Amino acid sequence: MARFLNSSLQSLAPYVPGEQPQQGIYIKLNTNENPYPPSPMATKAASEEARRLNLYSDPDCNVFLEPFAEYLNVDRNMVFCGNGSDKVLSIIFQSFCEDGVAFADITYGFYNVYAALYALETEIVPLKEDLTLDPTTYYGLNKTIVIANPNAPTGIAISREDIFGILRHNRNNLVVIDEAYIEFGPQSAIPLLAEFDNLLIVGTFSKSRSLAGARLGYAVSSGTIVEDLNRIKFSINPYNVNRMTLAAAAASIADEEYFNICRQKIIETREFTIGELERLGFSYTNSSANFIFVSHPAISGQTMYTKLKEKKILVRWFSNQRIKEYVRISIGSIDDMVQLIKAVEEILTEEL
Ligand SMILES: *Cc1c(COP(=O)(O)O)cnc(C)c1O
Repeated sequence: MARFLNSSLQSLAPYVPGEQPQQGIYIKLNTNENPYPPSPMATKAASEEARRLNLYSDPDCNVFLEPFAEYLNVDRNMVFCGNGSDKVLSIIFQSFCEDGVAFADITYGFYNVYAALYALETEIVPLKEDLTLDPTTYYGLNKTIVIANPNAPTGIAISREDIFGILRHNRNNLVVIDEAYIEFGPQSAIPLLAEFDNLLIVGTFSKSRSLAGARLGYAVSSGTIVEDLNRIKFSINPYNVNRMTLAAAAASIADEEYFNICRQKIIETREFTIGELERLGFSYTNSSANFIFVSHPAISGQTMYTKLKEKKILVRWFSNQRIKEYVRISIGSIDDMVQLIKAVEEILTEEL
């Protein structure tokens, strides 16, 4: 090892994804995937497109980006897509953070990894004691700002007004809002694009659109920023979104009814699960996402994670000091969550 690797990369600590067991013996509530399959229209479009896999995909992604711009009600030159929002975020960290980057102490783990990968000067902005974000702590930082809204792994959202304040106090810096979970509750920052040319919104089809395996992320921003994103994309891999994914994504936005049914079910299941866990003595953050972040006064986060895994339920535990008493539980089907509650009840009986 390390024989040919650049010396600057030898101490890089990569992102650790949640466990992805490839056999289905677990109830998987650990990586915020959608429990429901993609829209049948999306699967059909992808399988029809498979016949054209001998041809490169459209580097301009028109089959998806044209209807998507219309769907969002923004100009066609304001949208960009990439191979998962992780790819979009990596281009942003690589290309728009010369003056450094600022993000929360508790947030999506990849921000730290990209900051290290691209050797960026990094300012960590602590969340408040209750894990909420004080927008004024982001005023005038003179760095690129990256905020997940709602935040991961807490699920806590900030308001459009809070984002407005952050944009107004950072007019000469880029503000990136990562809206990976926006469809499960909070207000999107998209309307603020009319007023701010320093706003860059990132989103994904992995969570609300049940297309995690297809890898489709997007950015919405001013025409000039999108042009710059394309400049970098075309300098790395113009074909980084494949044909089947573009077809599936276009079909997915055409099937609004299915989308709304699934996301409504997840929101209802989230509220049901929170209610049940509250009854069992858990504390929780106010989640606007497709996961919840909970802790129990009598059982450590790590024990809860381990005991649930023994019962074939996977959740996510983070060893970070500030949140180590919590586990993050993705919202599955109602049946998944009934099983989870049952398992938690058993654990509480065994442990207390
Ligand atoms: C899941 C997630 C992503 C990555 O999504 P992909 O599009 O699957 O790469 C980005 N940001 C946050 C906050 C996420 O939770």
